[in-house]
Amino acid sequence: MSVYLCISIDCECDKGPGWRTRKPLGFYGISQGIHDRLQPLFRRFRAKPTYLLSAELMRDAQALEILANLDGDAELGTHLHGEFAEPGAFEPDATSVFQCHYDRETERRKLEYLTKLFRSSFGRQPRSFRAGRFGIGGHSLRLLQDLGYIVDSSVTPNMDWSGAGAPEASFRQAPTQPYWPVLDNPERASEQAGALLEVPVTIRPSRLAGIPLIGGWAEPRWLRPTRGSVSGLVDVAREEIGDARSAGTGRPIVLNCMFHNVEVIPGASPYAKNEAEAGAILQRLAGLLAFAQREGVSSLGLGDVPDLFAR
Ligand SMILES: [Zn+2]
Repeated sequence: MSVYLCISIDCECDKGPGWRTRKPLGFYGISQGIHDRLQPLFRRFRAKPTYLLSAELMRDAQALEILANLDGDAELGTHLHGEFAEPGAFEPDATSVFQCHYDRETERRKLEYLTKLFRSSFGRQPRSFRAGRFGIGGHSLRLLQDLGYIVDSSVTPNMDWSGAGAPEASFRQAPTQPYWPVLDNPERASEQAGALLEVPVTIRPSRLAGIPLIGGWAEPRWLRPTRGSVSGLVDVAREEIGDARSAGTGRPIVLNCMFHNVEVIPGASPYAKNEAEAGAILQRLAGLLAFAQREGVSSLGLGDVPDLFAR
């Protein structure tokens, strides 16, 4: 069974400690983060990342110019932080809204605005989407399908976001491999193929998950270079591949690593205060890409995944 790696990157304006928005808005995460650091790394490993873009990036002429002219293979998709999307767009101190908390019509209009902005920016339809804070709800997937998306990647298996204020965004029961979701219940797989495929972020249960009491407290393990070590990432990848193989579905296996563009430069996210921390995140990412190369795991855009399943 073939194994594939998606590298899906939430892209937004520069933030800082506590995810506070830099003001006036800054875009070093695009010029230095994507252009100078990430894209050359992906080129070196012949990897195809998916950059999921928040609205404010597409309203900045310079950021747009860079994104439209990236050297090498990359997919561009969209990422909704509702504060930055019309109707009622503004520059928030921090992006805290979960889109599942908007009424259906407001969520529809914000997604439509973001999608139209993408089309007018790049002259094509976006194929892939991820919600800011992973905050999709019961309306989101149908709205995305109606707007022509073929992939959503907002589902975070083994997680729920009730601690962050959104018990509606619960994905504890979600499959860890791509599936056609029940549109009004994103963590459930439908029996039938649909127009919109869910490509969940690769997140494994905590090693203590089976142990009563303690299990509830330990953290699930993400395929995410933000923290930890290369060997930790490789463990998560190997475990997911092993589990998917033993499920015996015969389908291709897809790993989906996520992080943010602003994590790879100093001072633009809570995760990298300085150059050393930003460099460590890039090194862990490079370690994961090297593992994929060694194992013959090719990378592909989120929007390419439905083709694998159509074969
Ligand atoms: Zn985001």
